[in-house]
Amino acid sequence: MLRQKKKSFLILRSAHTAGCVSETVELPVTTMPTACNYHHLLSSTFVIQIPNKFTKHHSITVFKSPATNIFNPILGCSKKSSMDGPKKTSRRSPRKYGSSRKSVLRKTFKQEQVTFTAPISDDPVVAIIGGGMSGLLCALQLEKRGVRSTVFDTGIHGLGGRLGTRMIDPSMIFDHAAQFFTVSNPLFSELVDEWSHKGYVRESVGVIGELEAGGDFFPFPPSPPRYIAVNGMRTLADSLLSQSSMVNVVRPCWISSIEAYNGMWHLSENGKLRGQFDAIVIAHNGKCANKLLSTSGLPLVARQMKRLDLSSIWALLAAFEEPLPLPPKAIGLPFEGAFVKGIDAVSWIGNNTQKLSNSQKAGPHCWTVFSTASFGKRHKVPQENIPNATAEKVKELMLAGVENALGLQSASLQRPIYTRVQLWGAALPTNSPGIPCIFDPLGRAGICGDWLLGSNLEAAALSGISLGNHTADYLKSGGSRPDEFAVGLHDEFQVLEGHDIGQFPGLESNKTPVQIGA
Ligand SMILES: Cc1cc2nc3c(=O)[nH]c(=O)nc-3n(C[C@H](O)[C@H](O)[C@H](O)COP(=O)(O)OP(=O)(O)OC[C@H]3O[C@@H](n4cnc5c(N)ncnc54)[C@H](O)[C@@H]3O)c2cc1C
Repeated sequence: MLRQKKKSFLILRSAHTAGCVSETVELPVTTMPTACNYHHLLSSTFVIQIPNKFTKHHSITVFKSPATNIFNPILGCSKKSSMDGPKKTSRRSPRKYGSSRKSVLRKTFKQEQVTFTAPISDDPVVAIIGGGMSGLLCALQLEKRGVRSTVFDTGIHGLGGRLGTRMIDPSMIFDHAAQFFTVSNPLFSELVDEWSHKGYVRESVGVIGELEAGGDFFPFPPSPPRYIAVNGMRTLADSLLSQSSMVNVVRPCWISSIEAYNGMWHLSENGKLRGQFDAIVIAHNGKCANKLLSTSGLPLVARQMKRLDLSSIWALLAAFEEPLPLPPKAIGLPFEGAFVKGIDAVSWIGNNTQKLSNSQKAGPHCWTVFSTASFGKRHKVPQENIPNATAEKVKELMLAGVENALGLQSASLQRPIYTRVQLWGAALPTNSPGIPCIFDPLGRAGICGDWLLGSNLEAAALSGISLGNHTADYLKSGGSRPDEFAVGLHDEFQVLEGHDIGQFPGLESNKTPVQIGA
C-alpha cells in the first residue's frame, strides 16, 4: 500500500508474497526520483496510489525487475511523462536520499521484519556474503553438516578480506592487513593443527616485540607461538576451500541488494540476479553491510550491525634495497616486527621478507607499517579515492615514524624503492557484543565476523564456525521452532581492549630482558 504521510513521505508497503512478509519503506517526496534505488522491492506486489501533488513530477511505470523478471509497478522517475505537463526542473540533488548516514538510519529503523513461513527445502543452500576468514569457515562448517553454500566476495585478486597479501612481483610480497595470529581457544587450536599438517600455516620462528620511540626494543618470549601462512596470509584463504565440494565461490562480486521473496532470499549485484537462497549469512561489516541491511527487512540484525564501531588504520607498504638498520637490542636477532609505542603515525612495523623467507636475503626488503587508530581517524579520507596529497603526506609521516621507532637520525632512513599507502577505513572493531554469532530465525539470516567476539583472526574463525553450526541446526529443524534459534539480537556491546591491529592473548611485553633461544 502506498499512502501519504504528513505530506512529506510516501510509504511503500508490499502485499504478502508467498512465504514471506516483506518490508515497509518510506520515500521522502522531495527525492522521489531516487525511488529507483528501491529496485530490490520490485519482486513484491505493490498497490500504489499517487497523491495528485506528485503526479505532476512523478509517474507510475511498470518496471521489470532485473533481479526476478517479475513485472511490478514502482514509482518511475522519468523527468517528463504524459502527466507531467511542462517540464519542471528540481533544484534538489537527486542523489541525497539513500546515501546519507541519516537516511540509512531512517531506513534501518523503519523497516518491518521479514517473516519466512515457507517450509525449508530438503537440500537448502545458504548465501554467504563475504569471503574473509569468518565467511569461509562458516561455509566449511556448513559443508561438514551437509549444507551447501555459495560464498560471494568482492576480492579481485582472491578471497580473504583482511587476510590480505599483495604480491607486487615474486620478490616483493607484503601482508597488508593481518600479520600473524595467535591461538587461545582449544577448537581453534585443533583447526590450526590441521592447517599446519596440510602445510597451509607454520609457526613463525622470528622475533617480535615492543619498540619504543628512539629504538628501545623489548622482545617477546617465543611462547605463545605465532602462526603465519606460508606464502603470505592470503594463501591461507585460498587454501581453505581447496578440498571442499559443497561450497561455490562467486568472485569478484559485490552483492548490492538482498530481497525476501517467495520464501527465498534473492541476491543481486547492481540489478543482476546472483541467485536465490534458503538463508543468508552476512560475513562482512561496516558501511557496506549497514547499507545492505538498511532495507533488508531484518531490523534487529541491522540494529546490531549499526552498533558496531570500527577504527581506521593506514597501511604503508615499503620496499628497501638494503636491510634497515635495527635497534641495538634487536641486532643479531631474526627481527620480524614490533608493536611501536609513543609514535602517533606508527603502531606496527613488520619485515615481510624476514618473516616469509626466514632470512635477510638479498633485497628488496619488504616492510608493512601500520598507523595508530588515532592517526587513522585524523587523516581519514574516502578509502576508494585517496587524494594524492594525502597519500604523500601520510607516507612521509609514516616513514618519519619508522625512522624514530628504529632510533635513526632524522632524514637518515634510506628512500624506499617501492611504496604504496592504503587506508583500512573499517579496520578493526572497537566494541563487541561478545557472542559468537547473531541469528534471526524469522528472517533466516545470520551474521558472523571477528567483531562478534573480538578483533583478530581467531575471533573471526570461531564466529564463522559457530554460525555455520547454528544455521545448520536451524535448517535441519525445518524452521518450525524459530524462537529456539534467535541469538544475539539484543545483546549489549562492550568496549574491546587490545593493540591497534587486534588482540593477541598472552602476547604482552613485560619489559624485562628475555633470553631468546635460551
Ligand atoms: C591493518 C590490520 C591489521 C591486522 N592485523 C592482524 C593480525 O596481525 N592478526 C590478527 O589475528 N588479526 C589482524 N587483523 C584483524 C583480522 O584481519 C580480522 O579480524 C579478520 O581478518 C576479519 O575477518 P572477517 O571474516 O570477520 O572479515 P573480513 O576479512 O573483512 O571479510 C569480509 C569480506 O567480505 C567482503 N565483502 C564486503 N561487502 C561485500 C558485499 N557486499 N558483497 C560481497 N562481498 C563483500 C569483503 O571484501 C571481505 O573480503 C588486522 C586487521 C587490520 C585491518
